[in-house]
Amino acid sequence: MDSQDLIRLEDIYGAHNYHPLDVVISKAQGIWMHDVEGRKYLDFLSAYSAVNQGHRHPRIVRALVDQARKLTLTSRAFRNDQWPLLAKEVCDMTGYTMVLPMNSGAEAVETAVKTARKWAYQKKGVPQDKAEIIACANNFHGRTVTAISFSTEPLYRQDFGPFTPGFTIVPFGDAEALEKAITPNTAAFLVEPIQAEAGILIPPEGFLRRAAEICKANNVLFIADEIQTGLGRTGRLFACEAEGIRPDMVVIGKSLGGGCYPVSAVLADRELLGVFKPGEHGSTFGGNPLACAVARESLKVIREDKLVENAAERGAYFMDKLRRVRSRFIKEVRGRGLLIGVELHPEAGGARRFCEELMKEGLLCKETHDNVIRFAPPLTIRDKDLNWALKRIKSVFRRLA
Ligand SMILES: *Cc1c(COP(=O)(O)O)cnc(C)c1O
Repeated sequence: MDSQDLIRLEDIYGAHNYHPLDVVISKAQGIWMHDVEGRKYLDFLSAYSAVNQGHRHPRIVRALVDQARKLTLTSRAFRNDQWPLLAKEVCDMTGYTMVLPMNSGAEAVETAVKTARKWAYQKKGVPQDKAEIIACANNFHGRTVTAISFSTEPLYRQDFGPFTPGFTIVPFGDAEALEKAITPNTAAFLVEPIQAEAGILIPPEGFLRRAAEICKANNVLFIADEIQTGLGRTGRLFACEAEGIRPDMVVIGKSLGGGCYPVSAVLADRELLGVFKPGEHGSTFGGNPLACAVARESLKVIREDKLVENAAERGAYFMDKLRRVRSRFIKEVRGRGLLIGVELHPEAGGARRFCEELMKEGLLCKETHDNVIRFAPPLTIRDKDLNWALKRIKSVFRRLA
């Protein structure tokens, strides 16, 4: 079957909850992907940063296959020999003392919300059912009913109500507004250190630090959603490190599974994650041995292949080159590490048509909202591949001018 046949089948039988570019990938290795016709593309999205280690990293694939030959699922009714090792390794690497494993990012966000609420009732003394969590305008924390309950994007919410109560919204980057929104019942402040889905929005310098201070002063938990920004993407292990802060809770996912398997987790210290007692929360697949073996190797690859350092160096190199691209369409180039957004002026006619032209040139990226092109290649990328991409980007900006 060729691409057109497969696109037709997908459109007939698959629910239309996405609007993908019309490229049908059947193979990938490292930073390169191939479509069914054998055309080659440079992956400049990395599955929204779930493939930071590159496609089918040989060691991650080996860990997956080796584990699949031994043991894949016990449920948490029994113990397995991989989860304890992942738990220790993730704590050693991040400096937290406890971890709770889930599968998708949205589930881990839900877990963080549940943790914060339980903490508020048991430790902070918030009256039952009164806990409040403050989130930011333009946030993205996943697609569950609770996560969209504090979304400000109408598209994500339309016809999905009624919503989960207990959330307050403040503008992203406004520490004063956060301080004003805090009440005696506030359990937590939940924030993405960089709002990736909203268009790679970077808060004003000092915002995260100030927000963390405000939280501490008011006995409010600071929760960072680092599902997309974490594990090296921004040139730091966690994007929050750029402002020297250590959140009370960190949510990770995406590249924790090395692009091979969905794995997510909530990291915190014992005083916090210790609020859970047996039976109060769980997941059939959370902490399964296949996921844990993959996650262990995915983290090891991030460390041993120096992906955090590479993201910092290649990101700085590429951003500098991008900023030199002369086009009247470009409003701003911004980012950290290899999480980069190119915002276009409205006159450019939307980011989508640029992504479609880039696809024809062999570069796969995706618009976020209407006017931002996101560039987020695997963290294994080298300068010569970035130069290859730059040539295509320049040529598309010239052609569409
Ligand atoms: C992707 C993402 C999520 C949701 O993760 P899923 O695995 O798609 O459920 C949550 N928060 C952020 C910041 C993300 O980028």
